[in-house]
Amino acid sequence: MRNQHETSRLDALHQLKLLDTPASESFDRITRMASQIFGLPVAAVSLTDHDRQWFKSRVGVDHCTIPRAGAPCAEVAESTQALVIEDFLEDPDYAESPLGRAGTRFYAGAPLVTNEGYGLGALCVLGTEPRKASSAELAALADLAAMVMAQIELQHAFGRIDPISGMPTRNQFREDLMDLARDHAGKQYFAVVVDLAREDQISRITRAMGAVRVDQMVHEAAQALRAALGPGRNAYQVGTAQFGFISPSNVEWSDYIELLRTSFASMRASSSVRFVTNVNIGVRSFVAGSVSVDDVIRGATSAAQDAREAEGAIALYSPARDTAHRRQYGLLQDFGTALEAGNQLRLVYQPRIDLSTGACIGAEALLRWRHQVLGDVSPAEFIPIIEQTSLARPTTQWVLDTAMDQLAAWQRGGLAMTLSANISAANLGEADLSERITTGLAWRELPFSCLEIELTESAIMDQPDQALAMLRRFRDAGVCLAIDDFGTGHSSLAYLQRLPAQIVKIDQTFIRDLIRATGSDFVLVETMIGLAHRLGYRVVAEGVETAEAAVILEELGCEEAQGFWFARPMEADQFVMWLSDRREASLAFPYAA
Ligand code: C2E
Ligand code: MG
Ligand code: MG
Repeated sequence: MRNQHETSRLDALHQLKLLDTPASESFDRITRMASQIFGLPVAAVSLTDHDRQWFKSRVGVDHCTIPRAGAPCAEVAESTQALVIEDFLEDPDYAESPLGRAGTRFYAGAPLVTNEGYGLGALCVLGTEPRKASSAELAALADLAAMVMAQIELQHAFGRIDPISGMPTRNQFREDLMDLARDHAGKQYFAVVVDLAREDQISRITRAMGAVRVDQMVHEAAQALRAALGPGRNAYQVGTAQFGFISPSNVEWSDYIELLRTSFASMRASSSVRFVTNVNIGVRSFVAGSVSVDDVIRGATSAAQDAREAEGAIALYSPARDTAHRRQYGLLQDFGTALEAGNQLRLVYQPRIDLSTGACIGAEALLRWRHQVLGDVSPAEFIPIIEQTSLARPTTQWVLDTAMDQLAAWQRGGLAMTLSANISAANLGEADLSERITTGLAWRELPFSCLEIELTESAIMDQPDQALAMLRRFRDAGVCLAIDDFGTGHSSLAYLQRLPAQIVKIDQTFIRDLIRATGSDFVLVETMIGLAHRLGYRVVAEGVETAEAAVILEELGCEEAQGFWFARPMEADQFVMWLSDRREASLAFPYAA
């Protein structure tokens, strides 16, 4: 039976994951030197496994393994002492060994020993003639064995230790979590991810102070974290400025969060970049062995992101938020496919009504997505997600092209119509957008007046200068512009005055419950219409759901309205049918639904 030391020795060997890996020049050059120094034909880096010697590197031998029993290298590994056999035939232990019987007469081996003192095997030279080994030769062999060990340790550390923080990497975190799942299954732990700064904060530091400053911050935080965790507990670097670690088992959540809070308060207070960063902490509780290690890390990382909005900058992993994030990610992935597939996206059209005549004077084109698995997904859900990505441009282009194609088709059929299409804040950076629109209209022989562009007030206020530049380009190109969702974007009067838009669309939240005089919405809407008129805008009310609201708006001088009271958004052919029905009826009853 193998003793405890042998079990640990084998464990140390297996941890290095060296066995049965391909030959490598970094080891072979050391083996060649050993063979040259001794002037002998055979040399090897020989590792001692359960029952075999396996050669990581060899010269002068074809096979890469021999039985452990009777191999001198096994004795070197077990004793961690050098061994010289001057003549096999004279040696009672080895004369009848497999090597001895195969004609080997001389052996010299230096041990390969880890920092912890485990003998992994030997660097050895063999000869077919008996001989002695000089002390110089043996000293050289010991040096070469040390070089082999340095190479083994270097390879092992590569990709496992971050050079800046000196902490084990995410790979190592995964491996250690796997060990935890195997050795401590069923125990309760917390995985913690500490986020030193947001991406934008890191880029700001890099930009102002250079990347070295970020490295310094990481290094400094790594030291503070090691001090906070105390000896014997590992922290890992899991992202550029992110560390992870595992709590001791079966600690109480309330105690643990208190500990995190106090440790990190002092870490934050001592950081040299504390004024320009936010340290956020995400925690995921898990039972070892019952969750995949990737889910553990992902959960804690996603909680750290949630922590940016959480009180006290510490957040516990929430499966509901995680599901929401994953849905968002999935939608983003699938939307790219939908754009290419062409049969999942379509536009629907919601009529815009002239309140003084009751006539339909145009429609808003609204994007619809029928997801192959999830069914209809609302633009209110997917637009904000894709707006933040490079899909914003092709999406808006798809909407504009489809709207213009529809206008052209209607025009060919004798229907002159005006459509409004929505663009996103993300499109504000596209200097050629107005040109793409005017070229598209001209190419389809459509008048410029038949396509209006809607941009939300909040999109405008997010990037006021860029928006102003874009809106001016629209005005110069003769494209009509509407400020969408007006009243929700906090624009100032001074700014509004400078905006070269023609239309203001009052947001539906003010209109939906509009009732006469008594409601506070009434006062707001009255003021907004008055203000917009004085600034020279035409006013459209969105979200008109009742006859009463329609009447009030007309009395307040609002020019146009849109809403379920008149019509829901419709498919193109449905819209045309609705239009012809409506044109007959509206003459007699201006506000008939
Ligand atoms: P929006 O541009 O303000 O469009 C009006 C939204 O209000 C539409 O929702 C419409 O269906 C809904 N609506 C119309 N009348 C009523 C009503 O009486 N009551 C209620 N409760 N709702 C009404 P939808 O189609 O779900 O679009 C939501 C938002 O998604 C749009 O708001 C717009 O911001 C965005 N969106 C839609 N299509 C596009 C697009 O093609 N491009 C971009 N960038 N955004 C789009
Ligand atoms: Mg709109
Ligand atoms: Mg709107």
